[in-house]
Amino acid sequence: MENEKEFEAQGFCPYCGQGVMIKTSYPVETQEELDQIAADRCGCQKASEERRKRSRREKIENYLKKHFDENMGDFIKETIELVQSYDIDRAAFTLGARNVSIWMDADAYLHVKIKHKSDDELKV
Ligand SMILES: [Zn+2]
Repeated sequence: MENEKEFEAQGFCPYCGQGVMIKTSYPVETQEELDQIAADRCGCQKASEERRKRSRREKIENYLKKHFDENMGDFIKETIELVQSYDIDRAAFTLGARNVSIWMDADAYLHVKIKHKSDDELKV
């Protein structure tokens, strides 16, 4: 096996300014990318918060994809943004045969609850 070439450069966490030495097996082109990698690795509070937010966004995306088509998903994402930024305490609405509630709990967890109306009626 050949020696793998390593590239080394410094990135700066955009939240606390901490410099982080970054070794990669490929050259990283821009300072912006280096800073992003630094943010991914930095242990400061703001960087951890941003990582949590990103993983939350991914989970929300997957959840909405499972339950709604794209248009409805976008509408619900906007509503989630409002609830997350505490502009409103709680949102509840009905979409077709589903009741949707969105709220933040006291531990700052976001809840998205979808309740399917269980009555199933056919009238012919
Ligand atoms: Zn940091």
